[in-house]
Amino acid sequence: MSAVVCRSCAGAELAPILSLGEQPLANSYLRPEQAAQPEERFPLALVRCRNCQLVQITCTVPPEILFRDYLYLSSYSTTMLQHAESLVARLVAERTLSPRCLAVEVASNDGYLLQYYKRAGVPVLGIEPARNVAEIARGRGVDTISEFFGTELAERLRHDGVRADIIHAHNVLAHVADLNGFIAGFRLLLADDGVVVSESPYLGDFLRKLEFDTIYHEHLCYYSLTALTHLFARHGLVIEDCERIAIHGGSLRIFARHDRVAQTSPRVRALLDEERRLGFDRDEPYAQFAAGVERAKSTVVELVRKLRGEGHKVCAYGAAAKGTVLLNACGLGPDDIAFVCDKNPLKQGRLMPGVHIPIVAPTELLASDADHCLLLAWNIAAEIRREQAPWEARGGRFIVPIPTAQVLT
Ligand code: ZN
Repeated sequence: MSAVVCRSCAGAELAPILSLGEQPLANSYLRPEQAAQPEERFPLALVRCRNCQLVQITCTVPPEILFRDYLYLSSYSTTMLQHAESLVARLVAERTLSPRCLAVEVASNDGYLLQYYKRAGVPVLGIEPARNVAEIARGRGVDTISEFFGTELAERLRHDGVRADIIHAHNVLAHVADLNGFIAGFRLLLADDGVVVSESPYLGDFLRKLEFDTIYHEHLCYYSLTALTHLFARHGLVIEDCERIAIHGGSLRIFARHDRVAQTSPRVRALLDEERRLGFDRDEPYAQFAAGVERAKSTVVELVRKLRGEGHKVCAYGAAAKGTVLLNACGLGPDDIAFVCDKNPLKQGRLMPGVHIPIVAPTELLASDADHCLLLAWNIAAEIRREQAPWEARGGRFIVPIPTAQVLT
């Protein structure tokens, strides 16, 4: 299960960046009766390909283990929904998408994005391997195929006459083990003048903001524009344009088209230059990142233990993968953190992987005597603070864990 060569270019020279040791699967929330059983753990080590510069983890956990009980629903975050709605409105207008077009999303989750195309009268097709999640999408009228995307499915769809005017791939490229099969699938499915719109957490933000809690087994790759350019070019697709966006702690949105029609914007050249200037193709920025992560972990632990020592009750918010990683990497357990709030009813009543902290509904926060709350879901901090305004008004204080633990006032 360990990668010996780069997932993108098959290069064999993988430079080590950081190891988080053996970690449980970040999204395997335990039922209380599973607490006494041993949990599966897998190595979590970050490396960089010296050939194509793709930053990736070495271990590939088989998707049937990773996604067998998938509980993440995009629609539980209003931030994600607003993001999807405004992007769709913009693309429908800019690209004059009509009822004769087709919008496809790979990893379409519960139809959170495609529902807005449907509302605008543009036909949609979702591709979502998690059966329970695909079922929810169908329930809201978003036609969804429950399979893994790749060349095989793309060929079948193409054979059936399906061609996409727009293909969305949001927060999925990071999760794909067979990267080349995936991008080759885009090429097969994309109409001649169609566009691929893809968003992934951006390596530049990851390094600068010390987002080490986004390192988990599902998250195989951490993209720079440099690495994406190599990957897409290998399959006849050119990244025409790019935008840096704030979502998920800083992401990169790219627009790619067939090489025979694509025209590269100055923004693409400027970001490639910036990546070269920042040394993304050298060891230094990664060594600085690794040292920063060690410091960040100790500041979180010191702050939480200091508060506990002073008699405060500390809880956390956001039973997402990054929460699992942060708690496990810092070694914070139920003695430090009383409970973790999360809106997703499928997670409530379960335990955080590895550290076994109980997950409860967000309404429990105001009902509890907790006076500090670690914001594990820092990417939707504003949304959570709005929701929990009465708790803050009562004197409750949120703590943002990275890049340095900080109590919000
Ligand atoms: Zn490579």
